[in-house]
Amino acid sequence: MSCGRNWRDNELSLARVCEKYPDAAPFVIIKIDVQRRGVVYTEDALRQVDPAIHMTNVRSDFYDKEDITPVSLLMRDGTSIFCEGILAESVREPYVVDVVDGKIVLVDDGLPIEEVSYWEKPDYYDKKTSGGVPMWHVVSARPQRITIHPNQFCDYWKTPGNGCKFCVMAANFKAGNKPSLLDVKDIIETVSEAVKEPGRNVCVFLTGGTLMGGAEFLDDEVDLYVDILSGISELFGGKRFPSQLVSTVFSRNQLARIYESTGLSTYTADIEVLNKELFNWICPGKAKTVGYDAWKERLYRAVDIFGPGNVNTGIVAGVELAAPNGFKTEDEALESMLSEAEEISSHGVGVVSCVWRVLKGTVFFRQTAPSLEYYVRLARGLDAIRRKYNINVDMDNYRRCGNHPDTDMGRI
Ligand code: SF4
Repeated sequence: MSCGRNWRDNELSLARVCEKYPDAAPFVIIKIDVQRRGVVYTEDALRQVDPAIHMTNVRSDFYDKEDITPVSLLMRDGTSIFCEGILAESVREPYVVDVVDGKIVLVDDGLPIEEVSYWEKPDYYDKKTSGGVPMWHVVSARPQRITIHPNQFCDYWKTPGNGCKFCVMAANFKAGNKPSLLDVKDIIETVSEAVKEPGRNVCVFLTGGTLMGGAEFLDDEVDLYVDILSGISELFGGKRFPSQLVSTVFSRNQLARIYESTGLSTYTADIEVLNKELFNWICPGKAKTVGYDAWKERLYRAVDIFGPGNVNTGIVAGVELAAPNGFKTEDEALESMLSEAEEISSHGVGVVSCVWRVLKGTVFFRQTAPSLEYYVRLARGLDAIRRKYNINVDMDNYRRCGNHPDTDMGRI
């Protein structure tokens, strides 16, 4: 899709979208728009950053930085706004974070929109492991969860043309000076320290790039997660603990091994886009090694193991409109996305969306994300499907994750 210099004339504004969809919380609509367009900080806003209190450094699979800008933002109701990564150039101006009447606020087109605060860093962040590795290099954090990225590269990127076209992992890894695989002992030590902080964490979350090797395809990835999750399980007395794994899609036997040998409680394998032809185009590595239909089938088998409400799949909402092979209109895309989400949900698998942030360093860096209204319609549709099929939102809700506008809507 294209978007000219007068993009504001071609799509509904934030205020009009809020008016048109009164059942959607304005906080969620603002979050979507900010994630889609990005933020810049004024000097006054940066003076409000206190590196002793706020998270300014992060090392993860998709984003590394060490400067004085905040990692991300939080709104008054606890809704997170993810500002991680560097957006590609766009005709849509970013929001400005400024200070107005002593408050940190989002400003658009000269108008204050909403108060925000900066994410606070966890207690473990400035500590080191026994081997001297800064703990913030090992485990990144959200305001309410522990986030581990044990493999910061992805095997799909080792074959030219096989990486997912919206994915920034390869560019981020090549720009950084870091190991691809983190040390399991460092991870366990850091998580052990992180869980000491009272009242902060509701979940331990793991994700990372694909590891294709092993006796069975993906066994190396399974082994890595089993090592980490069983080590963390010991911190919880060997019991099942609030946790989420987002991985490549595993076979039934591999999932049974993880479930039985660790305390993992929920499972996610991201299908990224809800259309077979677009999946083949956008995620060629996944398409060649697993395939769209097999990806869905493996998700359904995961429900047999983890139980209904404990399995879901993520989509990068908006890539379905990427040129030249994507849907030509937002109406057409919406209808197709929601009908496929309904089919998947009828098998007990939730579908959650992230806002496509068109990042520098991705194959899709010249593309334009859809309109704000499209995202709000999609989030409402996914929320309605989840309610219709009675799929529990809690495994990926605003506290456990905070990156899905549709599960943010599940709060009401
Ligand atoms: S599977 Fe795709 S989205 Fe995930 S890390 Fe690999 S290339 Fe990126």
